Amino acid sequence: IERIFDSSLPYPSETTDFHKVSLEFNIGSASDIKEGSMSYSDGIGLFRTEALFIDKGNFMDEDSQFEAYKAAVIKAEGKPVTIRTLDLGGDKTLAFKNEFGHEENPFMGYRAIRFCLDRVDIFTAQLKAILRAGVYGKVRILYPMISGINELVRANSVLEQAKLALKNEGIEYSSDIEIGTMIEVPSAAMIIDLIAKHCDFISIGTNDLIQYLLAVDRVNDHVAHLYNPANPAVIRMLDKIVSEGKKANLKVSVCGEIAADPIFAMLLIGMGVDSLSMASGALSEIKFMLRKASFEELRKLRNDALSQNCSRDILTILRRFRNAKM
Ligand code: PEP
Ligand code: MG
Repeated sequence: IERIFDSSLPYPSETTDFHKVSLEFNIGSASDIKEGSMSYSDGIGLFRTEALFIDKGNFMDEDSQFEAYKAAVIKAEGKPVTIRTLDLGGDKTLAFKNEFGHEENPFMGYRAIRFCLDRVDIFTAQLKAILRAGVYGKVRILYPMISGINELVRANSVLEQAKLALKNEGIEYSSDIEIGTMIEVPSAAMIIDLIAKHCDFISIGTNDLIQYLLAVDRVNDHVAHLYNPANPAVIRMLDKIVSEGKKANLKVSVCGEIAADPIFAMLLIGMGVDSLSMASGALSEIKFMLRKASFEELRKLRNDALSQNCSRDILTILRRFRNAKM
């Protein structure tokens, strides 16, 4: 069956009625970009940079980050590389005990952009490294865990300072870099129009968005049964984010795990997302499904899903659609 999916790989990522969706993949380092993989994908939708730090067990200086990002940008062969700034914290603190200490509630604590805006030294070094890597291809910057405008404005101002520093040091960098906001905290999902004033695109992080929206810890087995992407509250919130994003002229992407699940990927496309970023192994199946569906029927799938009252009925509709396409 994988052979059948793979047969769609050389073809464009579009529906039968030529509605294009950018199908991208997630990486943790340049080595995740395998030989030939750029020829069938449309870019890197999420580079989780904390993976480099966690591998190393320590913070990295500007130059070693620059080398790591540049390697990925070169391997991407001119396709966009979306570099997410550090998302340490939550459950990703093991090697960094000195900085994070003990937290009662780490997922709601000192994490990602909150940490970076507190440790501007670390944040600046990373932003400078990303700006420098931008010289070698097409780079985008993505801020994680934004919960309000204030954080976004402050992050952008650190970015401007980083550009100024490079200029003063006489080091080459790209000034043509799109800025994106992860939408993974419900408070951010409610103010897409305001966020749009300060960035070029949004990327929905459903892994966190679901945990924060439903108040279900994403790493706690006792409540795993409550972690349900088909919950009507999740479906409504996703649809609202996408429609508000499009209304504000933002590019809208999804980079959480549901982008890799064919039943949800088709629903998200019906909602109108511009791109999906997923584990590389999922790309062939998603492209296969996309190329079998029309945008019109995906719109209808979205309308049907939104009119259901419970997750079981939503899942039934989504599965029925997939089965009809297989
Ligand atoms: C997400 O939250 O959906 C996401 C893509 O980020 P991470 O899984 O790295 O928290
Ligand atoms: Mg996240």
